[in-house]
Amino acid sequence: MSGLVVIGASYAGIQAAFTARDAGYAEPVTVITDERTLPYQRPPLSKDYLLGEIGAHELRMHDEALFAGKRIELCLGHRVVEIDRSASRVALADGVVLDFERLVIATGSRARKIAVPGAELDGICYLRSIADAVDLKARLGHASEIVIVGGGFIGLEVASSAARLGKKVTVIEASSRLLERAVSPVVSCFLLDRHLRAGVAVKFGTAVSAMIGDGGRIAAVELNGGVRLGADLVVVGIGGIANDEFAVAAGLDCANGIVVDEHGRTARPAIYAAGDCANHYSRFVGGWIRLESVQHAQDQGRAVGLAIAESHEAYDSVPRFWSDQHDLKLQIVGHSVRSDRIVIRGAIEAGRFSVFNYRQGKLVAVDSINNSGDQMVARRLIAAGISPTPDQAEDSSCDLKSLLKTSNQAVA
Ligand SMILES: Cc1cc2nc3c(=O)[nH]c(=O)nc-3n(C[C@H](O)[C@H](O)[C@H](O)COP(=O)(O)OP(=O)(O)OC[C@H]3O[C@@H](n4cnc5c(N)ncnc54)[C@H](O)[C@@H]3O)c2cc1C
Repeated sequence: MSGLVVIGASYAGIQAAFTARDAGYAEPVTVITDERTLPYQRPPLSKDYLLGEIGAHELRMHDEALFAGKRIELCLGHRVVEIDRSASRVALADGVVLDFERLVIATGSRARKIAVPGAELDGICYLRSIADAVDLKARLGHASEIVIVGGGFIGLEVASSAARLGKKVTVIEASSRLLERAVSPVVSCFLLDRHLRAGVAVKFGTAVSAMIGDGGRIAAVELNGGVRLGADLVVVGIGGIANDEFAVAAGLDCANGIVVDEHGRTARPAIYAAGDCANHYSRFVGGWIRLESVQHAQDQGRAVGLAIAESHEAYDSVPRFWSDQHDLKLQIVGHSVRSDRIVIRGAIEAGRFSVFNYRQGKLVAVDSINNSGDQMVARRLIAAGISPTPDQAEDSSCDLKSLLKTSNQAVA
């Protein structure tokens, strides 16, 4: 077997394989995943699936027939354990070896494990895969007191779902606000208020010092300072780690993920990476970043597929993310870290607004609550490098789309 080998059958890997094929790559294509299920959508795992609003079969991304139709071999339940760069081969855990002409690493990320005494007790869960979700959902059904460690996206989405299922939920967050690295303080406050109104308790500025068990099962979570919270289920959501170990072992450049250029190429000819496992330079961030988002994985996977089909188109998308919590849709475009001025558009009290984040007078990110319209315009503005003045951004009657037209006319 030669041709294209893709490790990871999720957003980035599948997009790379499909795009390469659709753009004319004619050699054999093999997509390998260590998961045993057909590729599935991850975002609903913490939302609709946990709530029981959709079943596992509704998470499926594509039918097997689509892979066959594109002459792509999908290998489920096989773990790649080694890349031999000089021989252009990958080795699977069962001893099988596959040759490649091109290799895409799209292995995603995994949940960071909590390192405290008692961390291995039964009832301490993580949420990354469908297998995790099936287990968590079953446990949630019987649990009554749930402690969530981490006030990030996964933690807050699980908190929202658990509260909606009538559970007693406490979120432990080490910093002083929710989603500190992702949204502006205004949005953190707004989300906090919504969680509190839904009955979720939140403890800031404190960390877990130990998990306390009873007969091998979780019984309480001990915080720094000795306070104990009763818990019959703990969900840990303290961030992700790139699955890049065998890339490191193969001598690929890795620094919080596999380092790639704007086409998803590593420094080694014929080896590419995309999605959660890759670290790239983003002009919208002004630095190197490893993004964990569906949109990013798909867009970067597409750039990789095009490069493999010798039809290069640089990956240059504005970072985008969404999160559903309670009745709120949070959407983020751009990167707000280091912003020095914010402007609110819309009415916070009406639960529909956007926060425009500026850095040195330039619009760098927009966080929206229940306002997809603002997001669409903001994405185009940031991509085009157009910054409405703060007065324009604040004035809901100002048509921000018209700024795009004006700029197009100026270019024409
Ligand atoms: C519960 C949850 C909710 C989320 N919600 C949102 C959301 O609302 N919005 C959003 O934008 N993003 C969300 N995300 C993030 C989003 O799902 C990820 O950014 C996206 O899945 C990344 O896609 P990927 O293809 O890079 O990697 P992944 O989806 O992580 O897939 C990588 C695949 O590679 C496999 N693999 C790893 N190592 C090997 C190996 N050695 N051999 C073979 N196979 C291997 C893995 O098992 C996995 O199947 C959520 C994530 C989770 C877990």
